[in-house]
Formats: sequence, structure tokens, C-alpha cells
Amino acid sequence: MSTPKSANWQKDVAHVVHPYSNLDAHDTRGPLVITRGDGCYVEDESGNRYLEGMSGLWCASLGFSEKRLVQAATKQLNTLPYYHLFNHRSHPPGIELAEALTAIAPEGLNHVLFANSGSEANDAAIKLVWYYNNLLGRPKKKKIISRLYGYHGVTVASGSLTGLVHVHRDFDLPIPQVKHTDCPSHYHFAQPGESEEQFAERLANNLEKMILEEGADTVAAFIAEPISGSGGVIVPPKGYFERVQAILKKYDVLFIVDEVICGFGRTGQMFGSDSFGLKPDMMTVAKGLSGAYQPISGLLLTDAIHDALKAGSRKHGAFAHGLTYAAHPVAAAVALETIKIYQERKIVEHVQSVAPYFFERLNQLSGHPLVGEVRGMGLLAAVEITSDKASKTPFPPEAGIGAWIQNKAMEHGVIVRAISTCIALCPPLISERQHIDQLVDGLAKALDEAQAHFGAAVPA
Ligand code: PMP
Repeated sequence: MSTPKSANWQKDVAHVVHPYSNLDAHDTRGPLVITRGDGCYVEDESGNRYLEGMSGLWCASLGFSEKRLVQAATKQLNTLPYYHLFNHRSHPPGIELAEALTAIAPEGLNHVLFANSGSEANDAAIKLVWYYNNLLGRPKKKKIISRLYGYHGVTVASGSLTGLVHVHRDFDLPIPQVKHTDCPSHYHFAQPGESEEQFAERLANNLEKMILEEGADTVAAFIAEPISGSGGVIVPPKGYFERVQAILKKYDVLFIVDEVICGFGRTGQMFGSDSFGLKPDMMTVAKGLSGAYQPISGLLLTDAIHDALKAGSRKHGAFAHGLTYAAHPVAAAVALETIKIYQERKIVEHVQSVAPYFFERLNQLSGHPLVGEVRGMGLLAAVEITSDKASKTPFPPEAGIGAWIQNKAMEHGVIVRAISTCIALCPPLISERQHIDQLVDGLAKALDEAQAHFGAAVPA
């Protein structure tokens, strides 16, 4: 924690409403004020330095001091600090970014609608699915199937897609058009003795059942992250997406892939879709798109969907959707430079070269009495915390072991994130072996301390 009651501390507590924070406890615990960044590290106002093992919020893929991004922003600010794409206007960074993004995207995604955040991009996806089916003369085909423990944002529509109780509870969500199907976590939800393939088949059958029960003529789209991030870094079981995609095709259900975390090298391919053989009709990107140096997101569309939008304009005139800051030229210039850096520095190959070491080191924690499972792909991982390895029983939420481990890890100079029943890791893509060592060593110390503190019931 930063120095108690610094000026920043006092002003923060007086005025800032903190996302995903306990607003009641905040009055007494106050903020950790981060003031600087440098490579894979950030520093707080007391001068403590941390290895940022979460890339902020799964997003600062190039770390915290990439000068080329600063230069790209400065140059654009000096040239044209703002313009928009409404009413047939355009600007070079928006145009070049659209070209660069569609060039690296999975095949067929040739068009992009920009926004400012992952939530907005997913929100737009829902609106366009509805618009598309209205234009095709299928006004009943409107339901969107999402998954439990999926994370797609917090706006009214994207928050509805998110499959987490606390995102819905007392916020009057989800909206009725959104349904949730199974979470593909084999560790948590497989039946005893069920193989990954059998589990995948059962989930795919459940999805098909849901589509038939709802009525295929009412189900418009299915949305999924290739690997669910904020729901607990859930890697799908073998065969899951092949089966799911076949069902979507069978019932003419659009596939929206949320690449907000997985996109841009995180899984060891340019997109999570490439890692899992996904063929999206729509794909959303944000976070790594600009290395998080500017807020920008995109919704990529196939020709078929774009053609329907054009048909909409033949019917209605202007496409009545758009955000003032979408494709903001400064954000677009930064995103364009980010993509150039990913390509020039061969970020995908870099992740492929570091990831085996990342998992070699993490797998050394598998034998720890508190660790139920190590899972992940590329530079995205989770260490599942359990009070009983055999029964996979989690600690009760009120024990607060995740937050405890997270805080201890910070004392050892590393930032990890407690989510659900696991500790998530998502280090910058520029991480080298020494960063991986520091991250895993810091977490290992925190786990040992947690074992001493919580582990009376957990045999060592
Ligand atoms: N989709 C995914 C997969 C995410 O991880 C997130 C954010 N964690 C979002 C969407 C929402 O993005 P934002 O916070 O930029 O609205």
C-alpha cells in the first residue's frame, strides 16, 4: 500500500469511485497510487517497484515505456488531434489501422467498426446482430448465447453477456435476450472420470439442446472468448470449439469471438482464433490493439455482414450508429504503431519462445499443497487455489485467500491478480526469462506464506 494518507490518498478517497473495488473498505484502505512505468515494471508513489505480471488489466502488452508509441501519439497530436468518421469523413490513421487490422485478422474479416473499449465493441456486436437479422427479414432471431464465467464487459448489453453473478446482481441484468450456457472448465465442471473430449461433447450437446429449446429461429448468435480471461483463465477442452462451431453452422447462428484479451499474440498466435481454429463472423478486439497506450477497440465483420449493413443503408439511409471518439486519430495512430511493432519484433514468435519456459516454471508449482491446477496458453495462465487437491474444494470466498496471496506477492515485488478461485498471470508480451523467474518466484513465496497462514487443514 502507498504511504497512508498522502495527499493523493486523501483526494482519492474523497472523490474517486473505483471500478471493481470494495467502495466501503476503500475509505479505510485507500488506493495504491501508481505513478510511473518502465518496461515490465510499475512504481508506486512511495517508490516501490513491481513486476506487472498482469500487464495492468491484461492489456499493456508492450510494457510501460515504449517510446515509439509515445512518438506516434505526439506526432498525431501535432498533426490532427481529433477528427471522426461520421458522415463520410475519414482520416489517415483510421484508414491505415483498418487496413493493417483486417490484413492480420482471421480470413474473411475485411471490415472494421471502431469503438473505444471492449464493452462498446461487444455492445455494437449485439446491436449489429439484431440489425442484421431485421434486415434479413428474421425479426424473431435475436437471442444471444453467452457462457457462464465468460467476460465481455459491463455496459447494459455487454454486461449481460458476461456470465458472472456479481456483474448482474442488483444491476437488473442480464437483459432477456441473453442466455448463458455452460462454462468449459474441465477442472471445475467435468463429471468424475469424464475425459476432455467427453466433457466437450456434453457441453456441445447442451448448447444444441438450448438452441432447440429456445427455438433455432430465435437464436441469433453465440459469443465466446477463445480462452476466458476474467472468469478464471479457462482453456477450453480438446474438441470443444470444433463441436460448437458445427452446431452454430447447423442452426445458422452467428459466431462472435471476443479477442479482447487473446488478440495480438497473447496465446502464442496472432489471435486466439488462430490457436483454436475459430472462424468468426464477428470478432472484437481492444486492449492489446494499442498496447493499452490509448483506448481503442474494434468490431471486425465479414463481407456477408457488411453487405447486410449496406442493404440497411439502401433501406434507411445513413447507418445510425457511431461514437464521437471511435477511431480517434491519436488512438488509431498508436494502435497502428503497436501492430507495426508486433510485426517487426515478431511478437508471436517471441511469445512462442518464452511460453514453454513460463509453463515449465509454473508447472513447478503444481506440487504445492495449495495448487489444484496450472493452466493457460502463451503468456496467459492461472494457478488454481484449492484447500483439497483430491476433491478440488476451493477455500470459502470469505477466507479471502486469493486477495491474501495477491497482497503477499506484491510484498515480493510482483503483481498478480486473484480472480474467482485462481491467481491469474498475464505478463507483458515483451517479458524475457528473467521476468518469468521473478514473477513465478514471487508467487511461489506468496503461496508458501499462504500455506503457513491458511494451511492448517491442508497437508504439506
Ligand atoms: N472482453 C473481454 C474478453 C475482456 O477481458 C474485457 C475486459 N477485461 C472486456 C471485453 C471489456 O473491455 P473494457 O473493459 O475495455 O470495456
